[in-house]
Amino acid sequence: MRIALLGYGKMGKMIERIAEGRGHEVVLVVDENNRADCTVAQLQKAEVAIEFTVPAVAVDDYKWCMDAGVPVVSGTTGWLERWQEVVDYCRERNGGFFYASNFSVGVNIFFRLNKYLAKMMDNFRNYKIFIEETHHIHKLDAPSGTAITLAEGIIKNHSAYHSWKLYQGEELDEGVLPVEAKRIGEVPGIHGVTYKSGMDEIEIRHSAFSREGFAQGAVLAAEFMAGKRGVYGMDDLLSDKLRF
Ligand code: NAD
Repeated sequence: MRIALLGYGKMGKMIERIAEGRGHEVVLVVDENNRADCTVAQLQKAEVAIEFTVPAVAVDDYKWCMDAGVPVVSGTTGWLERWQEVVDYCRERNGGFFYASNFSVGVNIFFRLNKYLAKMMDNFRNYKIFIEETHHIHKLDAPSGTAITLAEGIIKNHSAYHSWKLYQGEELDEGVLPVEAKRIGEVPGIHGVTYKSGMDEIEIRHSAFSREGFAQGAVLAAEFMAGKRGVYGMDDLLSDKLRF
């Protein structure tokens, strides 16, 4: 498969290595230094684009790919307030878009577990819930996209919570789920969901050892997207395996 890489940072470089290891060819690499010189014709040489950049440019990148008719896989976080605009643009252009706030297969198993636990704990209201995430100090957005997905999974499945808030030590209103974001060293990503009562606590936790799991998931998504139109996510990629 011929791939265009939009963004050539830590993720872009790892994706290149994994994609080439799986027999794919990177035909275009775009970063902030050459973005202005890249043409639609160059982009169209690729069968799929993989986009890992920064929140400020992600949506423009998606539109560039959709206008060019090249399906795009992206994991850039911090732009989701424009989600509906992107989905509408994709449908209008009959484009292909695959988005995941976290491409790790392990995290997507964790997402399912999180929803299942929230549903179960809806019957046990003496437990208060909080989410905690830890990432490296270079991460631009807080809380992480993964923590937001976890919060949304709880809100949909536990009737005591209606919204989430980035927790900075203050008292939160009833029904608001606290999400704490810590930035430490080079941590690739730790997410925990804790249910705490006066007597005990239950915690589920995912810890990534490196970025490799994210990069591999993105390449699998690119293989899945070749020739596809429409909007997809990890549930589509893993639907055969993630049943319970
Ligand atoms: P990074 O800082 O190492 O790289 C960002 C890259 O963006 C830069 O190297 C640069 O090449 C590119 N860039 C910046 N401005 C650009 C422009 N105008 N045009 C084109 N390219 C431009 O960051 P990273 O660790 O590679 O992460 C990138 C994004 O992916 C972040 O939003 C991060 O949160 C997200 N991420 C998502 C997942 C996931 O599984 N969804 C996993 C890891 C990281």
